[in-house]
Amino acid sequence: MCYNRYISGVIVTELLEISENIYRIPASESPLSADVGVIRGESGFWIYDIGSLKENADYINRLGAPVRAVLSHFHRDHIGALQYLNAERIFLGANTYKYAGRGETVKGDLYLSDGIELHIFELPSSHSKGSLGLEAGGFAFLGDGVYSLEKGGRAVYNATLLKDCIEKLKTLRAEKFLLSHEPKFVFSKDEVIGGLERVYSKRIKNEAYIEA
Ligand SMILES: [Zn+2]
Repeated sequence: MCYNRYISGVIVTELLEISENIYRIPASESPLSADVGVIRGESGFWIYDIGSLKENADYINRLGAPVRAVLSHFHRDHIGALQYLNAERIFLGANTYKYAGRGETVKGDLYLSDGIELHIFELPSSHSKGSLGLEAGGFAFLGDGVYSLEKGGRAVYNATLLKDCIEKLKTLRAEKFLLSHEPKFVFSKDEVIGGLERVYSKRIKNEAYIEA
């Protein structure tokens, strides 16, 4: 396994292959930076998040082809290095736009084709309002979208958002779900939806939140 790791004080950034034309720069814990998804299209690269490290942006900039970025949500560990990235287009949710200050806001679903079919979609998320996912080549990058939220020191899900999240995930064609910060990273669609359904089954009537 290779990570954004420090070697004599230098961060080494490496690309791991997930599938043909689909890669990632793995997340790091210290400093905290999310996974960067990289998809090779016919006319350039499509990335999902940029993480918080300038080294990630430098690496992507050196790929030498136009880059379009999809941002999952506004948290620093996902978009912190955006200022260093040379992106031709940036797709983000309305809430992320407030932090990024630029880009194209995605509402609902957006389908694009670049030698590979791309599907950018709004993902109802307890973790962060206005999250986006990216589906391509049988994989769905979900960022932190299926994670809970910290509330008063407890990990909880918003019951309504969790229900909507599960419904949205079921409509995806991808059979593999990619979850940021998880060393395993690649999960089956069934295990992710199954896990969320188990949480949802603990819902207490008239309670807005569910314990994770
Ligand atoms: Zn994160």
